[in-house]
Amino acid sequence: MDNDEFKKIARLKSARWALNALAEAAQHIRTCNRCERIFLTAYDAYTERLAEGERANSEMQYAMHPSDVWSMTKEILVDLRQCESWPKMA
Ligand SMILES: [Zn+2]
Repeated sequence: MDNDEFKKIARLKSARWALNALAEAAQHIRTCNRCERIFLTAYDAYTERLAEGERANSEMQYAMHPSDVWSMTKEILVDLRQCESWPKMA
């Protein structure tokens, strides 16, 4: 195996690890009362701002696109990681 192949295998291994961490984090938020409350509070505040802004008359004023949910979750990650049951690798 040459060096480029080795690097590619390492990157793909890292990608699978990251994907597993993402799935574990999402599953934890869904099943932990504490983390779900933090997530829902942030979601509510974010969509409330949308309702006051340019999307005020849009059907989407109460919803976020999933890509925005990831961005929002990154902003609350410090709080989420303080949960004693937070997945170690997430
Ligand atoms: Zn939790």
